[in-house]
Amino acid sequence: MSATDPTIDPKTKSWVESANGGSDFPLQNLPLGIFSEAKGLRRPGVAIGDYILDLPAIAEAGLLDGEWLEDLAQPVLNAFLSRGHAAQGELRARLHELLSDERFRDDVEPQLIGQSEVHMHVPCVIGDYSDFYVGIHHATNIGKQFRPDNPLLPNYKYVPIGYHGRASSVRATGEPVIRPNGQRKALDAEAPEYGPSRRLDYELELGLWIGRGNELGQPIPIAEAAGHIAGYCLLNDWSARDLQAWEYQPLGPFLAKNFLTSVSPWVVSAQALAPFRKAMPGRPAGDPQPLPYLDDPADRAAGALAIQLEVTLTTEKMRAAGLAPHILSRGSADAAMYWSAAQIVTHHSANGCNLQPGDLIGTGTLSTDSGDGLGSLMEISNGGKTPLSLASGETRSFLEDGDEIVMRAWCEGDGAVRIGFGECAGRVVTSGV
Ligand code: MN
Repeated sequence: MSATDPTIDPKTKSWVESANGGSDFPLQNLPLGIFSEAKGLRRPGVAIGDYILDLPAIAEAGLLDGEWLEDLAQPVLNAFLSRGHAAQGELRARLHELLSDERFRDDVEPQLIGQSEVHMHVPCVIGDYSDFYVGIHHATNIGKQFRPDNPLLPNYKYVPIGYHGRASSVRATGEPVIRPNGQRKALDAEAPEYGPSRRLDYELELGLWIGRGNELGQPIPIAEAAGHIAGYCLLNDWSARDLQAWEYQPLGPFLAKNFLTSVSPWVVSAQALAPFRKAMPGRPAGDPQPLPYLDDPADRAAGALAIQLEVTLTTEKMRAAGLAPHILSRGSADAAMYWSAAQIVTHHSANGCNLQPGDLIGTGTLSTDSGDGLGSLMEISNGGKTPLSLASGETRSFLEDGDEIVMRAWCEGDGAVRIGFGECAGRVVTSGV
């Protein structure tokens, strides 16, 4: 999308008043999601201000036209997103017209539903979920806890490190976080015991939704990778650190991670994010350049995303006392990612692995290089050694029952209208054991 794309023109306003003046969802965002009303069917909608526009309803009213029309009658976005950026762009241009031009107001307005009145769902049937580890400051911080002199393993600057996660337990914002049980082994104990995790943590990540897939055996070239990403969301890779420490060798994360992954429900498109692209951070002197299959001039020039990230914590006691949420971190994704979204997608398919429409890929925890933007409690509390203090007088090294984590993301910059991702929230509940 060029800078002249009319759908990101900052001068255009919507006749939906709440979309103008700082909403997460102005006319320039138009993220798709899947929603339902009480006892209603799941269906696609687009966020505008405080509302969702019911897409099957306006299609039925004859206001949409395209080869993709029948895909919008589905309860998931897989089929629509599989058509790639061209279809997304066509729908976006039409929605931009319908929501800005007063001529359409009388026909469209009855199909707006308040966001507070609906339930949001995971937008796709996720065939596969993979999680990467491209946040270099996070990888360094965690590595230091085990190897102070040599925090990054030798492959880190050559390989975008990742593993296969679990799709069945990916849920939309608001899903309760049931404290997982598992094997925990204290460092000085002879044998592990089974019980509720005592070191429950979150991980601040971005999620990538795959649109067009690739055939088995046909890698996605780096220059084409961005075209396979339908959009982005927030992702919380809930992690039980005590289970993880005992189980992760030699095959990597398993039960420490697969009990739940939360995502924000809106697919924020590449078109909406175009004004917020930046050059990838330069690699420090002495770092290897990416191998040719991961190197692309266009991606070097604009592969980073200036997405602002914030995580807050409230405890039961804080909520009862009416205290403001505690800000755990603030930072920007562009400074955190050693590998770009395109490099992640290309690497994932580089051996011929096929990505499918609706696949979800996590970036890995995104921490800044300063103490203000750390993306997990493991880093903030330095492995539990330095608990943080809250206004309620409580302290935390890891999450207690009743604690709620809320992640938010937004983009802002000169000459562009601010857009947001909405929330990715989850509250910890007891395991009942
Ligand atoms: Mn992770």
